[in-house]
Amino acid sequence: MLKELQGKRVLITGSTTGIGLATARLFLQYGACVGINGRRGIDDPQVVEEFGRLPGEFSTFSADLTRSENCRQLVEAFVGRFGGIDVLINNAGGLGGRSPLEKIDDAFYDHVMDLNVRSVLMMTKFAIPYLREAARQTGITTAVLSTGSIAGRDGGGIGAGVYGSAKAWVHDIHRNWVKEFSKDNIRFNIVSPGSIDTAFHHGKSEEVLQKMRDSIPMGRFGASEEVAPTYLFLATHAFSGYITGQIVDVNGGQMAP
Ligand code: NAP
Repeated sequence: MLKELQGKRVLITGSTTGIGLATARLFLQYGACVGINGRRGIDDPQVVEEFGRLPGEFSTFSADLTRSENCRQLVEAFVGRFGGIDVLINNAGGLGGRSPLEKIDDAFYDHVMDLNVRSVLMMTKFAIPYLREAARQTGITTAVLSTGSIAGRDGGGIGAGVYGSAKAWVHDIHRNWVKEFSKDNIRFNIVSPGSIDTAFHHGKSEEVLQKMRDSIPMGRFGASEEVAPTYLFLATHAFSGYITGQIVDVNGGQMAP
């Protein structure tokens, strides 16, 4: 079944660290052609070297996806390198800071929304023609997967309301795209992490981190490597060809409302 992943062309935004990097590694282990993206490249030369030894192929495309034109250029650069797109993973995103409602200004709003909403919208828009064509040529479904969040279900922490609602927007628009593009054999699913041990949580005090652990039934943060296989499952037609429009929570038992 996993033969399907050999040569599969997978573009993963925000894959230079954290969840995206672990996901890129997993796809490379199964022989996929992976596009790595961040504003910068992968920092750690040992990881670059390790990736070079894996069965798949990868190229790194630096781009700031808060700008629509950069999204267009990233899609075109990936297609120029690998000849098409079978799977788009919209993973770039982040908190973008915290602000109480009464202090939110246009710059804060634009930053959080550009990072978490515009990037997903524009990447998907520019990738659709290639996903449609790949599905037509291969006769199996292609896929868009986006990284949601438990914050998209529970509103997010205090000061992170714009982020939480941006992720809710991502959850919701996938359901719309199911209606528009199922005829083209493209599936849309969300991977929704709870609290995962990445740079996302850097800067929090030990007290805050412990409170967070205490709120998770499994009593610990998840690792990026524990999230990555869900993308692999949802990207693989043989595993998930009849699954679309779903949100898969990966959160150690935190109750997503
Ligand atoms: P991370 O390690 O900070 O990864 C973020 C990735 O996005 C990096 O590769 C970063 O690379 C890239 N990125 C940031 N801004 C970008 C931009 N403007 N354009 C292109 N790439 C950009 O954090 P993570 O936890 O793995 O986050 C991955 C996704 O999971 C995000 O969408 C986040 O909201 C979501 N999430 C995380 C958690 C958690 O607990 N960790 C929970 C729920 C959801 P550069 O810095 O080089 O740009």
